[in-house]
Amino acid sequence: MEPNSHNVELEELRDRISWLIRLRWVAVLGVLVTIWVSRRFLGVHLEVTPLFAIAIALAGYNVVFWIVGKWVPVATSEAGVSYFANFQIALDLLALTGFIHFSGGIENPFICYYVFHIVIASILLSRVATYLQVTFAIALLVGLALFEATGVIRHYHLRGFIPTELYQIRTYMFGVLFAIGTMLYFTAFMATSITSRLRRREAEIVRLSDALRKHAEDLSGTYEALRQLEGVRSDYLHRVAHHIRSPLATVERMLAVVAEGRTGQLSSRALEMLERARLRVRDLLSLARDLLVLSRTREAPPLGEREVVDLVTIIRDAEADFREQASQASVALTADCPEYPVEVTGDPETLKELLDNLVSNAIKYTPVGGEVRITLEQKVNLAELSVSDSGIGIPKDEQDQVFEEFYRAANARELGKEGTGLGLSIVKAIVETFDGRLSCESEEGGGTCFRVALPCQVGRSRRERAPWGI
Ligand code: ADP
Repeated sequence: MEPNSHNVELEELRDRISWLIRLRWVAVLGVLVTIWVSRRFLGVHLEVTPLFAIAIALAGYNVVFWIVGKWVPVATSEAGVSYFANFQIALDLLALTGFIHFSGGIENPFICYYVFHIVIASILLSRVATYLQVTFAIALLVGLALFEATGVIRHYHLRGFIPTELYQIRTYMFGVLFAIGTMLYFTAFMATSITSRLRRREAEIVRLSDALRKHAEDLSGTYEALRQLEGVRSDYLHRVAHHIRSPLATVERMLAVVAEGRTGQLSSRALEMLERARLRVRDLLSLARDLLVLSRTREAPPLGEREVVDLVTIIRDAEADFREQASQASVALTADCPEYPVEVTGDPETLKELLDNLVSNAIKYTPVGGEVRITLEQKVNLAELSVSDSGIGIPKDEQDQVFEEFYRAANARELGKEGTGLGLSIVKAIVETFDGRLSCESEEGGGTCFRVALPCQVGRSRRERAPWGI
């Protein structure tokens, strides 16, 4: 069932009733302790039997209320719960009046304990019901005092505690009743004001959380729709890329055959045009390839394809693969890795793709004489990989955008280096599939450093050092 403010209020009331039931056990204990302390240490003469009977009655009906509250359906409707709470408080007032009666009547200092009941009533009941309970409490007290004073019911004097029969002094009796009566009404007034304010706040909180939940539902609906759209888009890209890749590869092969002169001699002008066409076709092929990789990465890799991969091996392979390209560009390429394996769980091809994109970019955007450095460090269960270069850097205001698809920074475009603008999107998508973190520090003209942190298995070096610790 949808939680709404009405249900929440009902639940809250039921909760408070359970709290009252727990509190009543304290009252039972309190009665027993009071009887014992009064007799044992204060030497007060008390009518023990009726007082014990009241304590037992209190405990007995508390058990009944507990059972009713838990299993009887009357305590599940709003009116039912409200009657249930009213009834309990009225019964408590009767029990307290009984306790007061058998222990000195209005001479008993515990007479002020009516206040607790009124505070409890204001927490549990409506304002009107609280005032009705106050009136009921005062009626009980006045009745008790009058009946005792007039001899209609017996007065149990607190011998050993109160020297004279105070209850027969009219001024004392009226004074006590007036003081207690006004105290109870004031208490009701203050407690109900505070609780009604709190209830209004509570209702407001419930309303706000309802609104928040609704927003969250709307948002998750929108997110789901976006996710589906993204899926459709990715699927579309995948198909397009797939369909153009094979004919392009064929065109590239044919152009190569023609360029090699196997179909006859070509003029130098025709050869030049042909080379330019081949270059364009190669760019298109790399675009199709990047699109395919991107769409494949976005589809979450099936768990079955995940295996333990050593990042050190991947880095060493990349270093070897790019050595030629780096030396052609007159860029020094170095890799700094731990001696032990750094193991992550994933697909080796994907990790290779991630590194290839970062390293190829670093070489591409580093001028002659510069350097590219790959480093790997293991920090407990995190593999920290970085690819830094001394290249052209990325302008500050474009550092976030370079991770967007097809985005290329102005200085890279000006440099005239070819690119699809998809490499970093691929890197980002791969890091996301690993639940890793990707960051970039760069200064225009001062070089760039991409850092990737991937969750990894606790390093072998550390395992080997166990159990002496790290
Ligand atoms: P591209 O194919 O253009 O290299 P990428 O998605 O790999 O596409 O990179 C996006 C943009 O980020 C690049 O066009 C370039 O502006 C910038 N960039 C990426 N790596 C570097 C780097 N190592 N140094 C400077 N700029 C970089």
